[in-house]
Amino acid sequence: MQDVIRLLPEALANQIAAGEVVQRPASVVKELLENAVDAGSNDIKLIVKDAGKTLIQVIDNGKGMSETDARMSFERHATSKIASSEDLFAIHTFGFRGEALASIAAVAQVELKTRRAEDEMGVHICMEGGKLETQEPISTPEGTSVAVKNLFFNIPARRKFLKSNPVELKHIIDEFQRVALSNPEVSMVLYHDDNEMFSLRGGKMAKRIVSLFGKSYQEQLYPCQEDLEVMSIGGYVGSPDAAKKTRGDQFFFVNGRYIKHSYLNHAVMTAYEGLLPEGTFPFYLLNITVDPKDVDVNVHPTKTEVKFTDERTLYALVSAAVKQALAGYGVAPSIDFGV
Ligand code: ADP
Ligand code: MG
Repeated sequence: MQDVIRLLPEALANQIAAGEVVQRPASVVKELLENAVDAGSNDIKLIVKDAGKTLIQVIDNGKGMSETDARMSFERHATSKIASSEDLFAIHTFGFRGEALASIAAVAQVELKTRRAEDEMGVHICMEGGKLETQEPISTPEGTSVAVKNLFFNIPARRKFLKSNPVELKHIIDEFQRVALSNPEVSMVLYHDDNEMFSLRGGKMAKRIVSLFGKSYQEQLYPCQEDLEVMSIGGYVGSPDAAKKTRGDQFFFVNGRYIKHSYLNHAVMTAYEGLLPEGTFPFYLLNITVDPKDVDVNVHPTKTEVKFTDERTLYALVSAAVKQALAGYGVAPSIDFGV
């Protein structure tokens, strides 16, 4: 008998990996926006057509890429963000796996334009189904534009199972809002089918919350701050009077990364005990800062679940911080909404 095991061709391996990283247009939005933030941009445009099924484009004014890096960025496990296993425990960027662009390019047509400040000419790369189609010099603004066209064009079964445009667009808006909330100092716009859906100027967190969720939040936010030596919590909690019947607007960020955490959510809810009308959910946005070595973000490719070394202390801290913030409940909070 002959041996039967072989290594998968790279394009096929990338397509399989893409199954985990790219579930829907919103996954592409998340990866591209995070790359733009990681590149140090303070102005990011997201352009979406047909709820991302036809086009998802992110244009940033970040540091751009050299010609070689631009080509390398589509290789799997190619990243500028970590170099050694020690770095895994000190992650200060959104990305680190070096998988996103390779995965996206495996299941779409991708057009990249990028230029660094020090280069006169930029580079223009077209990829299709994981393969390089063209690469040439281009005159382009400083920063990077990545356009992802016809997602899953080469996997008809995946494309067919995308949800309706309103559903896919909702997921895109969720990702946009999460990035906008964890980076209030970055100006961000979102166009869908040529309509401007959001136009956010960079500024303070409270202002960003109001520009995303509406003016009514201006009188409904209580600042929340609690610091220990090894961890701290900052952010805003909503007045119980403004609680909604849906769970939507609740956000935890850990070192800038959006996470879901039912245990910590419970900590918040205990602080609201007795204040909320039955079946309603308060707004909250809490930024948790911990030493990167005390949080493991490496548990899932889409990275919304994390493990903390000391969850009990964090639980107590969250609960105390929210209680403290709500101690002023009934008294209108004074918040600086300025830029
Ligand atoms: P990761 O973000 O995990 O490193 P990606 O596949 O998302 O992996 O990106 C690969 C590399 O391409 C990044 O590490 C970065 O060096 C570069 N890159 C991607 N997007 C941008 C961008 N918008 N601006 C500058 N460099 C980028
Ligand atoms: Mg990335």
